[in-house]
Amino acid sequence: MSSTNRAALFYEPGRPFEIAEFPIPEPRPGGLTLKITRTNICGSELHIWRGDGRLGQVVTPEGRILGHEATGSVYALGDDVMTDWNGAPLAEGDRLAFQYFRPCGRCRNCMRGLSEACRQSFSIQRGELTQWPYTRGTFSDYLYLHPGQAIFKVPDNVTDTMVVSANCALAQVIMGLERVNVEMGDRVVIQGCGGLGVYACAIAKERGAEMVIAIDSIPERLELARQMGADEVIDISEITDSRARINAVKDLTDGDGADVVAELVGSAEVINEGLRMLNWGGRYLEIGVFFTGTSFDCDPGRLTAQNQRIEAVASYDAVSLQRAIEFLSRNAERLPLDEVVQDYALEDINQAFVDQDAGLVKRASLVMG
Ligand SMILES: [Zn+2]
Ligand SMILES: [Zn+2]
Repeated sequence: MSSTNRAALFYEPGRPFEIAEFPIPEPRPGGLTLKITRTNICGSELHIWRGDGRLGQVVTPEGRILGHEATGSVYALGDDVMTDWNGAPLAEGDRLAFQYFRPCGRCRNCMRGLSEACRQSFSIQRGELTQWPYTRGTFSDYLYLHPGQAIFKVPDNVTDTMVVSANCALAQVIMGLERVNVEMGDRVVIQGCGGLGVYACAIAKERGAEMVIAIDSIPERLELARQMGADEVIDISEITDSRARINAVKDLTDGDGADVVAELVGSAEVINEGLRMLNWGGRYLEIGVFFTGTSFDCDPGRLTAQNQRIEAVASYDAVSLQRAIEFLSRNAERLPLDEVVQDYALEDINQAFVDQDAGLVKRASLVMG
């Protein structure tokens, strides 16, 4: 086990990450120090690295530590930490999935049951690198988990490779498909088959979708989407015309269009096409574009005339993470859940970003020492 706390520092788009060392954060009462075992490059980090939208203007001269999609094991428990959020006893070495942000629990939104819309959630990621708890992102060996961050022990049949995407991609998709009420008999289109998209195929089927249609341009991703539950796939590299793709969805749905379309590409350019794939009464789910500064065309009269709605989801409530862990354990022997990520060492973080940006890997995963 690493006795130093290495972290990859990000400065600005176009500049490589640099590895630096920090103190290991001491646990305080009610919290715990986590040894990160594995951490992924999430699409949101790819947006920051590229400088998409307004993110291109963000420069941090002293560097900052990105990373949030991760799993780890208990390195040191703070006083008074006895159990996880299922009430299971905790001990050093236990494998954990954790909520990477912390809703305050006492603001107006939290009190109304909208903890995913808490404005305080990301305050724990802010602070000086020279001050405790030093490493506030998961591209590091150790991370401090504060009281109020949901934590769940990982069942033995769920590997680190399976669980590493649970605390962002998977929980996010579970929250999103709940928000648009995917239910028995629905016909669902998934735009984009990266990590989010392939999970969405599986979760939509679990919720009873009659048909899942997956769209992407990379055959390998579409194959994994099929293995995760997609009934039909549309390869953008074969059907290059937007109108033809919309017609393909109509043809597969008796001319109606899809009851739910989910945007998991991370690009505003695909939204208008997705909206045009909707059935009357359909629901559009926006998850992929988390940064501001882009826009899309939309005919509001069509939304009105066809009784459609658009929902957008960022982060998730604690129960979505609990459901994610249960989903993984229930399907560990049935679905190719450990094929979503591909391994890199922390030292190779720059190459991992280049490869994921080029679409060579679905989700790059840094294996920590
Ligand atoms: Zn993420
Ligand atoms: Zn709150």
